[in-house]
Parts: sequence; structure tokens; C-alpha cells
Amino acid sequence: MALTFEKVKLKSQSRLKGLHPVVEAATVALIERCYARGVNIVITQGLRTIAEQNALYAQGRTKPGKIVTNAKGGTSYHNFGLAIDFALLLPDGKQVSWDLKRDGDGDKVADWTEVVQEAKALGFEWGGDFVSIKDAPHFQMTFGLKTSQLRAGKEPTAAQVKAAYAKIDRCKEADEVKKDVPVSVIVDGKKVADGVADNGVTYTPARAVAEALGAKVDYDAKTKTMTITSKGDN
Ligand SMILES: [Zn+2]
Repeated sequence: MALTFEKVKLKSQSRLKGLHPVVEAATVALIERCYARGVNIVITQGLRTIAEQNALYAQGRTKPGKIVTNAKGGTSYHNFGLAIDFALLLPDGKQVSWDLKRDGDGDKVADWTEVVQEAKALGFEWGGDFVSIKDAPHFQMTFGLKTSQLRAGKEPTAAQVKAAYAKIDRCKEADEVKKDVPVSVIVDGKKVADGVADNGVTYTPARAVAEALGAKVDYDAKTKTMTITSKGDN
């Protein structure tokens, strides 16, 4: 059974708690936009409290295990609800993947790359662009603030937050006014025509589609009327 958007979103629900509201809005938009592109993601990490971060930092240092982070508590944007980590959600809706080359939707663009494109359009910085330690599953919004400033209680300004919301809105609007998008028209699994989608309406030869459905098509040039009669009415 195909994964619905609601199902995909639900997978990340618990990780959205504690995020800065604008980061949460961008994250939900990211899940949605990736879904629309045929790429499903799950948020694996959102807010990480300073205590949780310290416990993680201790791992591989003063506690057993492998080193998993170089950030002490209070030095990660996760500690302030400004960062998220993601993984690709596989079609079974359970397994996840960190395969940066996977192309699950078969569009010749790696799914990971598609997610990064969408995230950047929504205003996120990508951990894969970091100069020191690359962090491919990581996105953050810093608002130009260092973690030391955040630790000291500084917050993004109202104007910065407003601008971030506006960026998310612009992404959504850009989708809605898409014009002249070429589309393939498939009837019962067979391509019968090309069409053009214009602001949510698809224009395509009516005859090709109707005949593919087994209907009879008549055109009266005098009245400029096309009459489509379905099989059942013949
Ligand atoms: Zn992260």
C-alpha cells in the first residue's frame, strides 16, 4: 500500500516537539515538498536538550561506545530547537536509509540531493556544506547567531522570524502558479497524449483521452461543440 502524506508526516511527529515554531513550519513543509517529489523522509532528530547533548558527547570519551558527536551540550543548534536531522524513509514505511546516492523515485536525481534542494529553498543551511565536519543528514537555521549567543539567551529577532516564514510561503506560492508544465496523459496504463498543466488545470486533446476510454467522439463545426458519448450510453 502506498504511503499517504499523513502517514509519512506522522513518522516525524514526535521529533517536531520543541523545535522553534518557524523551524517546525519549515520542517513540515520540507516533508510535504519531498513527498510531492516522490521522496519520503523521516526526521530522526529535532530538539536535543543540553543534558542529552552532554550524554551524547560523553559517549566514546568518558562513557563506552563510539564517538558520535563533537559538540558539547549547548554548542549544537539542536540544543536550541534550530536544527533537524533526517533520513530517507523506504517504501515499506519502516526502514530508513542514509544512502546519499539512492534514487528511489527513479528521476535520475539522488533522493538525498532532492531533499537538500528543497531544504535550502525553505531557508535551511545544510550540514553537507560545513567546512570542518560534514554532516549530511543535518539542517539548521542559525539566524546569524552563534551557539554562544544562544546560550546567553539571545533569540532570532521578530524580523528574522518573519522573513523565514515569508521564505516558506514563497516556496508554496511558487508551486501554485506553475504554468505550462508538460505532462504525460496516461489512460489505463497507456500513454495516450501529451498535455500542459497550467495552474492546476491540465489541457490535453479530449479526443485522445475519450477514445482511449472507449467513448465515441463527435465534433460539430457549426455549433463548435464536441460531444463525447461513453460506451454505456451507446
Ligand atoms: Zn544534526
